[in-house]
Amino acid sequence: MFRKTKGVHISEFPEHKHISDSKPIINYLDPEFVYIPLVEQGALCEVKVNEGAMVTVGQVVAMKTGRFGLPIHSSVSGKVVSCNKKMWHSSGKLVDCIQIKNDFLYTMSESIKPLEDITPENIALKAKDCGIVGLGGSGFPTYVKYQVKTAMDYVIINAAECEPFITCDYRLILEETASLFSGIKYIMTAVGAKKGVIAIKENKYEAIKKISEYIVTNKIMDVDLFFLKDEYPAGWEKYIVQRVTKKNYNGLPSEAGAVVNNVATAIALAHAIEEGMPLVTKVVTFTGYGLKNPQNVRLRIGTNVSEVIKSLGGYTDDKCDYLMIAGGPMTGQTVAFESLVVNRSLGSVLINERFKVEELPCLGCGKCASVCPAHLTPTQIKRVLEAKDTKLLETLKPTRCVQCGLCSYICPSRISLTEAVGKAKAFVMKK
Ligand code: SF4
Ligand code: SF4
Repeated sequence: MFRKTKGVHISEFPEHKHISDSKPIINYLDPEFVYIPLVEQGALCEVKVNEGAMVTVGQVVAMKTGRFGLPIHSSVSGKVVSCNKKMWHSSGKLVDCIQIKNDFLYTMSESIKPLEDITPENIALKAKDCGIVGLGGSGFPTYVKYQVKTAMDYVIINAAECEPFITCDYRLILEETASLFSGIKYIMTAVGAKKGVIAIKENKYEAIKKISEYIVTNKIMDVDLFFLKDEYPAGWEKYIVQRVTKKNYNGLPSEAGAVVNNVATAIALAHAIEEGMPLVTKVVTFTGYGLKNPQNVRLRIGTNVSEVIKSLGGYTDDKCDYLMIAGGPMTGQTVAFESLVVNRSLGSVLINERFKVEELPCLGCGKCASVCPAHLTPTQIKRVLEAKDTKLLETLKPTRCVQCGLCSYICPSRISLTEAVGKAKAFVMKK
């Protein structure tokens, strides 16, 4: 049976996007040091430089190991100070980083060259060489998505940005429209798709207007808008693919004839193809009521977040106890305040007042199960996990959880269901 994934309306005001979405992106591109994390998607990275070495912008300084290997580049030119400097990472852990002292010359690596022979294979290779990953938070290597066995029907650009507070893709649509369309064209070439679709929430009026005008002005016939409801998790890949293609799939969107990239990823690909530029900068939303000046900021990968917050005017109230979340409020990870670094998949930094919430007993209201887009029963999973009933736990399929955070959000008893289902998922996957 084809069961569509569910979503919940989180109304526009509590989305809190208004505190940053009308301000143009600003640059913070001259940090004294960058700290390139040596962990990506949980995989360790192999260091390719020595302490004391001089490096250039775009030089490979590390390689992600494992099944989908990927180079990691220096985002400044300068001297490697340390290869094991400990910094906080968006995973919530302290990780080793390559610390590079910026010489402020921004000498470019000789390997930075535009792609001249635009073929599907070369586009995938360029995406790999330039270290392009899913910038919507997944960090998944983009080239892997382009290695399809048959031609795709659709390239879908995920412009939903459905989590409250986050606005970086929205600003990129307004400010880098031409690069977004170049990126779509290259992805369509890479996967042999005849149709491009930009899937966006129906209430993003300014962005929709900008895209529509671009399509009309440039007489673009093969890219259309697709409107998503203002609900969460409209940006979940499966949610979008089901609605655009009217097909279901188990593993990858390519089973439904679609390849999905988010806005920032498509733009990064365009810069990689047209300028040869590896992924060394990105736009991050700095937001929340704890910041004096919430803002989208273009940064070098490896920048220390605390410096950026200072440059934005700091915290609203220095005496207040704030909570920092790396990522969005629904799916992000709480981190220690100081020394969080910008890695390739970090999309936002959220600072809000820390509230102590007391967990109450389960009321048995069933709300957590009714909102779960993966059709799980979170409260039951938590109970079975605590009872250590491994066999029963497997039958409840916690591995299907997409960590969207909706069950915790909706629970009137403030029970940490997402965390519990996450633990159950990890436990079952380890078995
Ligand atoms: S976090 Fe997991 S269990 Fe909770 S609602 Fe989302 S998909 Fe369902
Ligand atoms: S939403 Fe909370 S209170 Fe309601 S059934 Fe789920 S865990 Fe229990």
